[in-house]
Amino acid sequence: MSELIRSEIFSLDEYTLQRYPHRIKLNQNENPFELPQDIKAEILERLGAISWSRYPAFIPQRQIDAVAQYAGWVPDGTLLGNGSNDLLQLIFMSVLERNQTVVISQPTFTLYKILARGLAADVVEILMTPDFQFDVDGIIAAARRTEARLVVICSPNNPTGTLMPETDVVRIIEETEGLVVLDEAYVHFAPGSLCHLLMRYDRLIILQTFSKAMGAAGLRFGYALAPVDLAHQLNKIKLPYSVNIFTLVAAEVLLEHWNHLEGWIDTLIRERERVKAGLQKLPQCKVYPSSANFLLFESLRRKPAEVFDLLLKKGILIRNVSSYPMLGRGLRVSTGTPEENTAFLNAIREAL
Ligand code: PMP
Repeated sequence: MSELIRSEIFSLDEYTLQRYPHRIKLNQNENPFELPQDIKAEILERLGAISWSRYPAFIPQRQIDAVAQYAGWVPDGTLLGNGSNDLLQLIFMSVLERNQTVVISQPTFTLYKILARGLAADVVEILMTPDFQFDVDGIIAAARRTEARLVVICSPNNPTGTLMPETDVVRIIEETEGLVVLDEAYVHFAPGSLCHLLMRYDRLIILQTFSKAMGAAGLRFGYALAPVDLAHQLNKIKLPYSVNIFTLVAAEVLLEHWNHLEGWIDTLIRERERVKAGLQKLPQCKVYPSSANFLLFESLRRKPAEVFDLLLKKGILIRNVSSYPMLGRGLRVSTGTPEENTAFLNAIREAL
């Protein structure tokens, strides 16, 4: 069988997340607040009133319009996906082929490299600076040298929390010739989206998701904002009906109620800063600034795996990111509810 699988896929390690029994889940940068029951009930009621035996609309225009309006972009340039991962795959598939290059910064979200490698593309990885800022000159130089088809920027970056300033995003677009994907999965926790740049540049795509600030990771709903011509090309090979009726209805209702829910974000930012201040007080710990809903910190004494295990013994699950480039001492903790964060701060004091 294995000889039937393309060699570049056969040689990949499995992309998986081990399950650990836990009480407090701070390992996947989800929103810890649940959608209120009355909103869930409204979603279920609307689902009860539509047909489940028929396909969704080929073009779910109502939801596209709602997302476009929310995101501040035109409906014709807005693509909906089964999570933003789905759209990442679509973009990579549309742009990359064997021996073509994608430039990414490291450390960053693991999926970019996996998707590119699966397409037999070359991945050029540019390390961040020692204090985890983007090496913008390095990214530009690599993209020019390799005539890269694609540059992927994750901002705020997972797992460092680093924000790329607008001037640097603009430099990368202007000084390179490929497509630039800006993954804004965590943008709600940062000063603002750069989607206004879509008016100026026809080689930019912005990805956002309902999985983080919007509190709906289980829905699997993300979207791409792109110049209309580019969106049109991507739409040609986008799988039809990749967003099911449950998700379409839920996303629509969520947006209708968003003004009652968005207070989540201020709470989470405040909590992130409280956790950061708590970590800063610990001598065995170096914590980095973050524009996302998680914090990267380094354990200066115990090995990250030991710290992870000690927290898990207390029921607290965080992410050991020490296998990422540059992060030999790294751990990442998502921002939870105030009670969860207090429990984390109490436990980490002893674990470090
Ligand atoms: N981009 C980044 C940077 C992420 O961290 C994640 C989730 N871990 C995603 C995209 C995936 O988002 P979605 O749930 O929308 O597929």
